[in-house]
Amino acid sequence: MKKRDILLAGGIVLVALVMLLVMHVTGETKGDQVQVTVNGEIYGTYPLEKDQTIEVTEGEFHNVIRIEDGQAYMEEADCPDGYCKEQGRISGQKQTIVCLPHKLVVEVIRQKDTDSKAVDDDLVPDTIAK
Ligand SMILES: [Zn+2]
Repeated sequence: MKKRDILLAGGIVLVALVMLLVMHVTGETKGDQVQVTVNGEIYGTYPLEKDQTIEVTEGEFHNVIRIEDGQAYMEEADCPDGYCKEQGRISGQKQTIVCLPHKLVVEVIRQKDTDSKAVDDDLVPDTIAK
């Protein structure tokens, strides 16, 4: 093997390692998601870290969900009670905004939390006693 080949092989390994690392890191930071469910079906999942506006139009219903500063809230809704707009901002695990007339649910899913919890559960020695 020539010296140049060894350098090339080393470079490829290095690039692969860096890519793995980058993918791992982005996977970690993409933990927090906002899941929008309409009529019991998942309408879409959106990263909580990215400011954006989600427009949901389903039949005659119209809802506008806003994600801002890592928090989600109902910006606009044409439901008769308007209760969903009064439910404030959500950013934590299992927090929800519900628009009952539109059967629309906005839920925060923190992937990181559920993952670490699953690991913790596995570590609990609850069946050692015989
Ligand atoms: Zn509503």
